[in-house]
Amino acid sequence: MFRTSLSSCEVKENPEAAQNLVDEMHDLVGDLGSDSSLSFSEAEQHILEGTRALGQKLLALHASDQASAKETEPVSCPKCEKACRSWRPRERQRTTLCGVIRVARWVYHCDAKHYHRPWDTKQQLKGKYMHRVAEMMCRFAAHFDFRSAAEELSRQGVIVSHKTVHKKVREWSKDLRVLEQVECQPSVPMSGGM
Ligand SMILES: [Zn+2]
Repeated sequence: MFRTSLSSCEVKENPEAAQNLVDEMHDLVGDLGSDSSLSFSEAEQHILEGTRALGQKLLALHASDQASAKETEPVSCPKCEKACRSWRPRERQRTTLCGVIRVARWVYHCDAKHYHRPWDTKQQLKGKYMHRVAEMMCRFAAHFDFRSAAEELSRQGVIVSHKTVHKKVREWSKDLRVLEQVECQPSVPMSGGM
């Protein structure tokens, strides 16, 4: 018999979504406890898929909670270094190691209308990809052909086409910071050890 002690989850901006998350956690545990015909392998797959989906929602909640707050320090324009003022939150898709999430983050601009998104800058985004996703794409592309790299990435929960892997890795290979990090990172084992 399974029991969970997770009874509440507080997120100031979105209590309903937080409660849904708790409910889904209970459903996941309930599914395991109620279906005695589930094999160990099926339970393994069910937990993997369920926790991935929960992780994606939890990260989206966390990101929205964080990005919905305006900067506490004055923001200067990265182009002209003049003061920026807040404009409005804009929602965009971000590909993370927990899956694709949507984040509404604050956009600022200076008098010259240079637009700046401090939250994105802090995350070291590579386009719409979180830095660790970009690094993983580069690393897999270094070990496999692009089609196999895309397949391996999907097993890690990062769904991208082989054409995208090819295009992005070629684009990022011009950025020395990504290359340096790829070279410093040990390879991710492709199968379990003994
Ligand atoms: Zn500016």
